[in-house]
Amino acid sequence: MDQPLAPNAEMPRQRPQLPSWTLTVADAFDITPQMRRVLFSIDRFADFTYKPGQDIVFFLPLENGETGRRHYTIRNIDRDAGTIAVDFVMHGNTPGPNFARQAKAGDTVEVKGPRGRVVFNPEADWHLLTGDETCIPGILHILETLPPGARAFAFIEVQDAGWHQRVETRANVAIEWIHRGDVPAGPSSVMLDRLAAFALPEGRGQALIIGETSNVRAQRHHLIGRGLGREQIASEGYWRPGRHGGHDHVDD
Ligand SMILES: Cc1cc2nc3c(=O)[nH]c(=O)nc-3n(C[C@H](O)[C@H](O)[C@H](O)COP(=O)(O)OP(=O)(O)OC[C@H]3O[C@@H](n4cnc5c(N)ncnc54)[C@H](O)[C@@H]3O)c2cc1C
Repeated sequence: MDQPLAPNAEMPRQRPQLPSWTLTVADAFDITPQMRRVLFSIDRFADFTYKPGQDIVFFLPLENGETGRRHYTIRNIDRDAGTIAVDFVMHGNTPGPNFARQAKAGDTVEVKGPRGRVVFNPEADWHLLTGDETCIPGILHILETLPPGARAFAFIEVQDAGWHQRVETRANVAIEWIHRGDVPAGPSSVMLDRLAAFALPEGRGQALIIGETSNVRAQRHHLIGRGLGREQIASEGYWRPGRHGGHDHVDD
């Protein structure tokens, strides 16, 4: 007979059951030269709850006629207009940018979510947020929704000033746009070098580290090396060269 599992026995990691939604394109437009916003209306809008920083999993058309999973962050929600904004980095001729390029009012797409643990922790004395272009939607949404008095430092790696956006926040926020210039997007020491020069403030901090997976892992290890506990760092790989969709856990 099978033995019952002990209460603390290791269980296989299972993909959580996320609610499904049908999104309908309401509008689409560029917000900066290589970032395109798609506004969606949603069925059962009143039931859609999330935390800033969370994303939804899109099922987007692939060249072979199937659909593929692609994660995109909720940039903001306008409850009066009944729309959700999602910002797509137009990095190439791939399913995500292709969807945003072709999106027109009335198109529908299936999604699941919201999901994600890279969210604001109200217990922390200060917040550090780092990421690249794909993280602009999440970082800016978190900054916009921080409570008054919260203290945050955001480092955003972009190619050049064409990616900058304005952010309005009631919190005490310092944003630094770090220009990568001719260095291609992806694995590099650009953010790690900046982080190494950042003097950690006093008090208990929380770090939200997102972006290209190897860069995220290098920053996480750097912060652990400087004394941050693993539980003080929420980190997730948003993309990496050669991977198609999905996300990487960076918990080590
Ligand atoms: C939780 C989460 C939230 C995210 N939120 C956003 C968001 O709000 N906006 C956003 O634009 N992206 C976001 N991303 C990243 C996005 O899901 C990936 O970039 C995804 O790979 C895009 O799909 P694709 O169809 O363009 O390319 P894919 O078919 O997935 O990838 C093809 C190839 O393109 C390259 N590639 C992928 N992304 C990039 C990139 N950004 N720059 C350069 N090369 C790349 C890689 O080499 C990859 O193998 C998020 C990811 C996660 C996990």
